[in-house]
Amino acid sequence: MNTFALRMAAGGALFAVGMAMHYVLGSGELAQLAVFLPAYLIVGYDVLLKAFCNIGHGQVLDENFLMTVATVGAFLVSAVPEAEDVMFPEAVAVMLFFQVGEWFERRAVGRTRESISDLMDIQSETAHVIRDGRTETVDPEEVSVGETIAVMPGERIPLDGRIVDGLSAVDTRALTGESLPRDVGPGDEVVSGTVNLSSRIVVEVTREYEDSTASRVLELVEESLSRKAPTERFITRFARVYTPAVVLAAIVIAVVPSIALGDWTLWVYRALTFLVVSCPCALVISVPLSYFCGIGAASRLGILVKGGNFLESPAKTVTVVFEKTGTLTEGRFEVSRVHSETMAETELIRTAAEAESVSNHPISRSIVDAAGESFDSCCVESAEEIPGKGVRAVVRGRTVHVGNHRLMGDAGVEYCHEEVAGTNVHVAIDGTYMGHIVVSDIVKSDAAEAVSALKALGVRRTVMLSGDSARICTDVGTRLGIDEIRYELLPSDKTAELERIMADRPEGRTVAYVGDGINDAPSLARADVGIAMGGLGSDAAIEAADIVIMDDAPSKIPVCVSLSKRVNRIVLENIVFALAVKFAILALTLFGYTDMWAAVFGDVGVTVIAVLNAMRCMDTSRLPRPTPSVKTADASC
Ligand code: ADP
Ligand code: MG
Repeated sequence: MNTFALRMAAGGALFAVGMAMHYVLGSGELAQLAVFLPAYLIVGYDVLLKAFCNIGHGQVLDENFLMTVATVGAFLVSAVPEAEDVMFPEAVAVMLFFQVGEWFERRAVGRTRESISDLMDIQSETAHVIRDGRTETVDPEEVSVGETIAVMPGERIPLDGRIVDGLSAVDTRALTGESLPRDVGPGDEVVSGTVNLSSRIVVEVTREYEDSTASRVLELVEESLSRKAPTERFITRFARVYTPAVVLAAIVIAVVPSIALGDWTLWVYRALTFLVVSCPCALVISVPLSYFCGIGAASRLGILVKGGNFLESPAKTVTVVFEKTGTLTEGRFEVSRVHSETMAETELIRTAAEAESVSNHPISRSIVDAAGESFDSCCVESAEEIPGKGVRAVVRGRTVHVGNHRLMGDAGVEYCHEEVAGTNVHVAIDGTYMGHIVVSDIVKSDAAEAVSALKALGVRRTVMLSGDSARICTDVGTRLGIDEIRYELLPSDKTAELERIMADRPEGRTVAYVGDGINDAPSLARADVGIAMGGLGSDAAIEAADIVIMDDAPSKIPVCVSLSKRVNRIVLENIVFALAVKFAILALTLFGYTDMWAAVFGDVGVTVIAVLNAMRCMDTSRLPRPTPSVKTADASC
């Protein structure tokens, strides 16, 4: 048993003896004092000390102070000759229950913190690095980019990288909340924090330990716990005004009626009771705990909420603005056709790939992949990416334009025709149209479900913004049931459009923007709620967004909204419940219908109930279950 438990047990035993003397034996006052006073000091000496220390620090009016004044007051009042009866039992009981209540809160917070850190137990302590054909086990921090590591079945992958050898399945649950394992093989990216399930894999490390997914996720969760929600800040401010007001009211209750009506011991007793019941702990503790548990629940579902404030606002969303590529669609393009005017098709692809090699755009990557090994980025003399249009580069002394019809327009190139099958990427060399490459993307399988779930949760308007062509956007948008579709937008037009949409939102409601962070970090930052399909790679998105959906599944957006609603409701329940019970007991106390025992319930009982209720925010079983993303054949766009 620890010292705290010992103290409470010893104090509790003395208290029981005292109670018997008081109520059964009717012992003398001094004899009772000889039992109750030691009990009181054993149980509450640290509260007394804290109250005095805080006075020294100028932090007078906290719950320790309220409890000290109330209990010391009860002892002193018992000592005056006019007192009807001694109030020793009440004084000790207040202190004992206060301590038990505090212990209970500490345990609740500790347990929540533990379960969050269990969830977040995603960093590995060791990595098996392969150096000169031998495997050494080292600290993951000592492994550099480009080295290869072996990961055994059942082990957590320590660093981000690409598989060079081995076929296996990985469990990404700790990061994405997704319970189905993902099959992986050579060439696939794996991220730290996920678990290798079936067989040994060899991974080429692509990020240092500090920049690895596991480290970054951990950092974000730690940061998020220190950011406060507006309601949380309100409660802190409220306590700062409320406690002095209560103390003042107690003084008035003790003094004014005593002067007017006499019987001052009665009024002092009521004033002391008033102090006990009015302690604001229930709110000061349960409100932050609710957000804390909510953030924990979200991270278990693969949703990173970057602070309590960002958990409060999704519930108020009226409009959701989606970006198309990478958000509603996979953002993984594939070259489906090449049309060349004069040169060989492979030559066309190679030239396009050389120019595109400077860009990180999903379209660029698809063209570079299609060119395979045959292109050579060293011959690119200068290159420039024009957001929302394409790339202009000088390759082997020739100016190459690769992009959409607007880029061709800007370059003064006459081009022939667009194909209907997908996104047309035109190629021009030295101002002459050379042909086009058709790339296509696929709609995410849970995108339509996400849109309808949001509508069911009270979102009134859904908008899709894209730089892509009217035909593709209309096709995708109508298929998903999106209300408004805006196409051929430049990245800057997207932010302007978002601002126009935000100007229309009703007072007190919010607009959410969902993007993948490529070209749209400003919109993510500008929106009331910025949700990034950051995946695990895009730094810009993770920086700019308020909420990051780790597995890119649109069906997690309605989950965020329901979680936010649930947490807000629990916070409100606690505020209403605590204040209602406290005000009721305060009023009854004033008119003499209650005593110190009711006050103890009004403080400790209410706090315990509020804390238990707040812990319900951890429970994710009531939230809608997102369906895992499975690619379907007919979803191409
Ligand atoms: P989205 O809004 O769909 O994310 P972007 O703003 O990134 O689209 O791009 C809009 C359009 O500009 C693309 O559909 C494509 O036609 C063209 N484009 C943009 N970047 C590139 C690039 N690197 N290579 C080729 N085309 C590009
Ligand atoms: Mg984009």
